[in-house]
Amino acid sequence: MWTTHTQNCRVCREALQNIKRLSVLAYVVAGVCLFVGIMVDARTVALQVATAGANVMPPLGFWWAILGAVLCAGGGYLLQKLTRLFYVYEFEHAHND
Ligand SMILES: [Zn+2]
Repeated sequence: MWTTHTQNCRVCREALQNIKRLSVLAYVVAGVCLFVGIMVDARTVALQVATAGANVMPPLGFWWAILGAVLCAGGGYLLQKLTRLFYVYEFEHAHND
């Protein structure tokens, strides 16, 4: 597929580039979410240990950040799988050219 069509097709190459950019962006956002979550957790735990002692739960913000990280990583993974289609399958428009 790559040598027969995608390599020579401007539409497919641009789409492929956009998807690759999006997947990288998704991974970056996932990393930022994870980092923010750890920051929020570390700060809250440190604060709670200082004031209330042990028996601390991560704050709600931590779970949202982790959820965001998981979703973004999953989205990035799906986008990467999507890029494989450009190398393996022929898209509809390839037949309409
Ligand atoms: Zn094409």
